[in-house]
Amino acid sequence: MASYTESIEKLIERLNKLPGIGRRSAERIVDYILKTPAEEIRLLSEAISRVKENVRLCSVCNNLSEADLCAICRDSRRERYLLCIVENPTDVTALEKAGNFHGLYHVLLGAISPLEGKGPADLKINGLFNRIKKDNVKEVIIATDADTEGEITALYLTKLIKPLGVKLTRIGLGIPMGSNLEYADSTTLSKALESRREI
Ligand code: ZN
Repeated sequence: MASYTESIEKLIERLNKLPGIGRRSAERIVDYILKTPAEEIRLLSEAISRVKENVRLCSVCNNLSEADLCAICRDSRRERYLLCIVENPTDVTALEKAGNFHGLYHVLLGAISPLEGKGPADLKINGLFNRIKKDNVKEVIIATDADTEGEITALYLTKLIKPLGVKLTRIGLGIPMGSNLEYADSTTLSKALESRREI
């Protein structure tokens, strides 16, 4: 068995815990670190620490932010009567890239998953109803993923929101069944938004 020094072995173990990084990739990253000037690596580790220290959740929509309110919630040009519910901050990024949504978001930070034992209590639903009432929301768009968890979550939200009397729509047309929003390309996403259907 190839033996690395103690600190290299420790770093490989740590990198190996990252999503998508197998042991071989971890070894390759360590090789890159060893060959790269110290200053460059210092900037890399500083960037990682900065993200961890500065990034938090927006107090209104749960999107990623470096201030109390995220850039989207702070933007006065956004249409506050339109609210789009998504599972994760990565979905916000994907929809923003698609570029044809000008309302606000509500990020659930997950989806209902009976298989993983995740129920409604594990989602960030608190505050959603107050927002719908306080901001005079006219339309709520449910943009959870097109997989089983996303559909279960959409069904649950429909039951909760429908009695509030706002227009409720679901995106989906164009998004292949079983797929995650964040992996859909911008054209597909923007079409899915345009062709949202009332539920
Ligand atoms: Zn926000």
